[in-house]
Amino acid sequence: MSIIYTGKTKNLGVIGYPIHHSLSPVIQNTVLQSMELDYAYIAMPVKENELESAVKGLKALNFSGFNVTIPHKINIIKYLDEIDGAASLIGAVNTVLIKNDRLYGYNTDYEGFLSAFQAKKFSLKNINGLILGAGGAARAVVYGLLKVGVGSLCIAARNVVKAQKLVDDFKKMGNIKACDWADVSVNEILQKADLLVNTTPLGMYPNVDKMPPVDMSILSSKAIVYDVIYTPEKTKFLIEAEKYGHVVLNGEYMLAGQGAAALKKWIGCKDVDIDLMRIALHEALIKKI
Ligand code: NAP
Repeated sequence: MSIIYTGKTKNLGVIGYPIHHSLSPVIQNTVLQSMELDYAYIAMPVKENELESAVKGLKALNFSGFNVTIPHKINIIKYLDEIDGAASLIGAVNTVLIKNDRLYGYNTDYEGFLSAFQAKKFSLKNINGLILGAGGAARAVVYGLLKVGVGSLCIAARNVVKAQKLVDDFKKMGNIKACDWADVSVNEILQKADLLVNTTPLGMYPNVDKMPPVDMSILSSKAIVYDVIYTPEKTKFLIEAEKYGHVVLNGEYMLAGQGAAALKKWIGCKDVDIDLMRIALHEALIKKI
């Protein structure tokens, strides 16, 4: 089916730099077309020093909203009229809604992360989680897990000062502590963990032979292992986890899920077909690599 855009078509997109690798246009346009919505979603390269003029331009061009990716997720905040509580605590915005001439910022990465558990019908209530890494993705993961009421979280990272800063920012939301991932005490936490999440780039294409330093052999046998990386589809971390019989989840869920949550904000509907977005993403990834 060929798409005809008209003078009434509404505009959406993603800004970042570089942006040519972005798969957001594929996943968003697939679902927009399946829902027969008259929107077009495009990728727009915006350099760091052009962020302010780009934001003004998108508003002037009457865009309905846009996604924000590296390197603008933090710097965008100063150009917005309002940001919601989750984005404020996570400290980054990946979705902007433009409504009545005002710019509203959200972070939908945490919703994307959680969508994998909804898809697999896993309950997170009162579980013990071990999160590897303390960067931007970890902050979204921690927010999501604490919001749904996990029992405890430990943030293990190579930089324990950064992990402790994350803990200080989120400790009002629940039971959370930091540790140095090289410390032997991590093994005790591993044994009790119901969920192990990699939020570092270790193992991401092209460095596919890397993984965070965890001993999967001592991880509780019922634990779910989640890697937020989506290239490759199965990182060394997930391959290792599967050897010990763990259920594994990859970053495709998070990427498709954050896109679905963003689209809901722009078009104001309750349901978006996340599965369709994830399949479109998966097929695009297979064709690309
Ligand atoms: P970030 O803010 O730079 O944080 C990266 C974290 O990993 C930091 O704790 C960093 O430690 C640690 N790290 C980086 N390189 C390391 C190494 N060689 N050894 C040990 N630790 C290392 O990055 P991010 O935005 O959180 O992204 C992290 C990963 O998540 C990327 O692979 C990204 O593609 C993925 N991601 C996926 C989604 C999705 O939708 N699926 C969304 C967001 C991010 P230091 O602070 O010590 O450097």
